[in-house]
Amino acid sequence: MGTVTETTPTETTPRIVILFDIDGTLIDTGGAGAASWRLAFDELYGIPADIGQFTDAGMTDPDVGRRTFEAVLHRPPERHEFARLLERRLHHLHQTVAESKDYRVLPGVEELLPELIDEGRLLGLTTGNVEAAAHIKLHRAGLNRFFSFGGYGSDSTDRAELTRTALRRASLVYGETVDADQAVVVGDTPHDVEAAHAAGMACVGVGSHHFTADQLRDAGADYAIASLENGLPV
Ligand SMILES: [Mg+2]
Repeated sequence: MGTVTETTPTETTPRIVILFDIDGTLIDTGGAGAASWRLAFDELYGIPADIGQFTDAGMTDPDVGRRTFEAVLHRPPERHEFARLLERRLHHLHQTVAESKDYRVLPGVEELLPELIDEGRLLGLTTGNVEAAAHIKLHRAGLNRFFSFGGYGSDSTDRAELTRTALRRASLVYGETVDADQAVVVGDTPHDVEAAHAAGMACVGVGSHHFTADQLRDAGADYAIASLENGLPV
């Protein structure tokens, strides 16, 4: 396992595995995620809870659900309540993704993914979404087929750990050991950079959503690009 700490990386090791964040990197659901939580809380408790008030974009789905529950109901959820909340949230997510007017695939993604497959790269996901939510969000754009493994918010509340999980799954799926220095994370926030580094991987910051390429470079991204339209720098 290599530890990537250098700020001026040299491309000596080919990046076999590329791990993509979803929200803000591959797609923008136009608020479908937050809307699904709001509908679930409203249906179950009569409270149209706004997750944006209580959580931030780097949190995993289970964390978002638990913190929002505690914020609006002033107590932790019982086990059965939490299970039901997660189920209702996924139920509503199908609809909010399907109906979202502002859902879009981010620039360059639809061209880049098949190109990377043609180059022989192994593509996975690294995301705070629970696994089912990740696939519901990608389904509308037909992007699930590019990703045969991933690390999800249902694997850990720690983004570094779920990024390591993604790498372990790459090794399982492809039947060969993939080391951290053979992988790269592509993400749109400083959380992605932090998690990649904690897992020993380099990170490509894509400034096409909430953060600019400069901000991601300042946050320690090994590479920073404005969008995926000109491919990856690895
Ligand atoms: Mg993101």
